[in-house]
Amino acid sequence: MKHKEEYLQEHGVKPTAVRMLVWQEVSRKRETFTLADLEKEMPHMDRSSIFRALRLFTEHHLLHETNDSSGAKKYCVCRCTDHSHINHIHFCCTHCGKTFCLEDYTIPLVSLPKEFLIEDAEYVIKGVCPTCNK
Ligand SMILES: [Zn+2]
Ligand SMILES: [Zn+2]
Ligand SMILES: [Zn+2]
Repeated sequence: MKHKEEYLQEHGVKPTAVRMLVWQEVSRKRETFTLADLEKEMPHMDRSSIFRALRLFTEHHLLHETNDSSGAKKYCVCRCTDHSHINHIHFCCTHCGKTFCLEDYTIPLVSLPKEFLIEDAEYVIKGVCPTCNK
């Protein structure tokens, strides 16, 4: 991945100190995370600053957002190779509660009536993950 400052700028995000710190923390994650996860990992940071950074990153397509049935919004780093930024499929383990990114599995989009414009889609599969399945 490119230098983080440059990467944020390319996505229209002004790289402030707080945003750089949050991005540094999230950009190496391969799985989904919640605001609470980040709060634990960055105890010196203010909760609302982390939240605002996450919201901004999501607006600027640096993150994907997903809602599984856990009640907490989950985020993951966007690694889309095209510009459509359509979310990938997520797999939510009913045993450990982790939500995995199935990045190679794009959401099969149905063709909608003409007047309906797709902006994003959500596809969460529930089941048992490989670790819990052992
Ligand atoms: Zn994306
Ligand atoms: Zn599991
Ligand atoms: Zn994901």
